[in-house]
Amino acid sequence: MQDIFKLVSLLVLTFAVDISNSPEEEIGFCLFDANSIEPNQYQCNPNPNFSYSTDPKDLQSFPELIIPVVFWGINRSDGSHDNALTNAKATEAIRLLNSAFETMNICFEFKDIKQINDSEIYWTDYYKFNKHIKKNYRVTQKDLNIYVPYRFTNNNNNLRGGKWSPNQLSVNMLNYNTGILPHEVGHILGLLHTHTGATAVNCEHVTRDENNPDYNAKCAGDRVTDTNATPKLYGKFHLINDNCEYEGKLKNCKGEMYQLTELDVRNFMAYTQHSCRSVFTIGQGIRLREFIRNSKEKGKMNFVKKK
Ligand SMILES: [Zn+2]
Repeated sequence: MQDIFKLVSLLVLTFAVDISNSPEEEIGFCLFDANSIEPNQYQCNPNPNFSYSTDPKDLQSFPELIIPVVFWGINRSDGSHDNALTNAKATEAIRLLNSAFETMNICFEFKDIKQINDSEIYWTDYYKFNKHIKKNYRVTQKDLNIYVPYRFTNNNNNLRGGKWSPNQLSVNMLNYNTGILPHEVGHILGLLHTHTGATAVNCEHVTRDENNPDYNAKCAGDRVTDTNATPKLYGKFHLINDNCEYEGKLKNCKGEMYQLTELDVRNFMAYTQHSCRSVFTIGQGIRLREFIRNSKEKGKMNFVKKK
């Protein structure tokens, strides 16, 4: 069980080891065996539970949803800290989420802020943090829980955050009000990285022409058709200029040159420059709303409520 937990945590860990081919295997659609199917025989069978629509009218048609949020500040055992999570900061985080998810008609409500005084998790390893919280600080399924420890030691103290359960995520104190927060909430609500599977044999192809036999945007990458095929840009920030424009000449698994727009570089779900993370696309919004609808039909996501 712990191994499964660790695997799931790994899949959504921001800026950590990328094994992002696995989320879709876990969800169970578009599975294929790379050893038995040649890439050119790969058939795209879109998951019928998603529309793949990119029509703003479809996005507008979803009714308003409410997500109550409980924040958890982490202090040293004696209550001291170098930067506490305050009501003002939690309110700032809620404002950021409401701005990021506004077009999806999702409203985040600040329900509570709790303080944990525990030096063991004030500044520690991400996995240790999650395990410790799970063991010692139980939560209900009624809220989204956002934990804000001072730092994580992983990646030379550079790990910013991650989703580690269906309704629990962490961001470090430097990121309660940055694009990392909507990114992790995007994972909670069913979105994948835009570069998912970029290094796989069945990577997302560049074409956006549905009649092109190579078109596979519904079955590869993030399964969203209005985000372009995208490489993992972490470590390649020199290819992004000050206007969040991509200036690289990277190629995908087929040898096609990526065709990234500024919107792709600015996407919340891309591994991109910190300052560029600012948009979700219409297609991501619709997929996210359909993911919530599908999950609720299965009795999951009780923290997402109808108005
Ligand atoms: Zn991520």
